[in-house]
Order: sequence, then structure tokens, then C-alpha cells
Amino acid sequence: MTSLQLFTGLFRRFRAKVLGSPVRVVGQCRMCGSCCADILILYKGKWLRRKRDCEAMVRELPGYSRFECVGRNPDGFLTFTCRSLGEDKFCTSYEERPSLCRNYPSKSLYYQGGWLRPDCGYSFRAETFRQAIRRLLTGRDDFSKVLEEQLRKGGDKEPSKKDTES
Ligand code: SF4
Ligand code: SF4
Repeated sequence: MTSLQLFTGLFRRFRAKVLGSPVRVVGQCRMCGSCCADILILYKGKWLRRKRDCEAMVRELPGYSRFECVGRNPDGFLTFTCRSLGEDKFCTSYEERPSLCRNYPSKSLYYQGGWLRPDCGYSFRAETFRQAIRRLLTGRDDFSKVLEEQLRKGGDKEPSKKDTES
């Protein structure tokens, strides 16, 4: 994990906790197949960097042997392609695909400081501090309006018999 990812992940987790507002995954898959052709794998909370960790992962999760290491990205993390990816960019083992694929894009990717491809049909939607402040101020305005309205109604109301007798 790079320092930038580490910092980004920490900041995202901190912000979500403080605001009580977890990230949401929105959008839908465009079936472009990009995320199956150039893969970073998060294993035990760390992006795979060493071949021996990769071998340990396959020993533990034999279904992951479909992922073939093809190099490293500029940050030094191992990159993989998938043997189950068909030439038409569709998964040839869709029903048996691993949880990594079933859950993609997972919130843990976001909280680990990861990003989605710009052309992905999904995106992460997280409330910012600025939006939270605006939400609170707007909420207060709404509350004030409701209160004023109720007070005005109360002032306009004729006292009922029961009110005057008590
Ligand atoms: S198993 Fe299927 S969904 Fe998962 S990376 Fe491979 S081709 Fe894509
Ligand atoms: S990159 Fe995004 S849109 Fe493309 S196949 Fe993967 S999840 Fe779907």
C-alpha cells in the first residue's frame, strides 16, 4: 500500500465514522470487462506485492489460481489477469466466480484507499464534511420553519371550552 493510499484510506474511514455516514456504491456494471483484465488483489487486508504471498493465497483459496500474475503496476503491486475472461470480455465461469468478483466493487476497496476505473459504471458515493454541514444547516432551517408554523397555528387557535375551564 502506498503512503497516499494509506492516508486516503485512513481519512475515508475517519470521515465515515465521524459523520456516521458510510460510503455507498452506486451505478451499475457496463460489462466492459476492464476490471477482469488488470487486477490488483487485496489479500488479508494488503494489496499483493510478493509472489510468495500470492502462492499462499492460492493454497488457501484454490479458486484464485485462475488469476495469472502478469506484472507490477507503478506502485510495485502485482497485477493479474484472469483465465476465466472470455474473448468477448464476458466471464466464462460466472456462476463459480470467486467472492472477490461477486462483491466487486466492495466498500473495503474504498476504505483501503482504492479507486475505481474512470470508465467503470459504478462509483463510490461518500458524504463530505461540506455536505454534512450543509445537511445539518438545512435540517435546522426546516426545524425552525416547522416550529414557527406550529407556534403561529397555536397563536391563531381559538381557546377551546376545555382550555378555558381548566
Ligand atoms: S472470474 Fe470472471 S468475473 Fe472474476 S475476474 Fe475472472 S472473468 Fe472476471
Ligand atoms: S470495470 Fe466496472 S463496468 Fe467494467 S466490468 Fe468491471 S465493474 Fe463492470
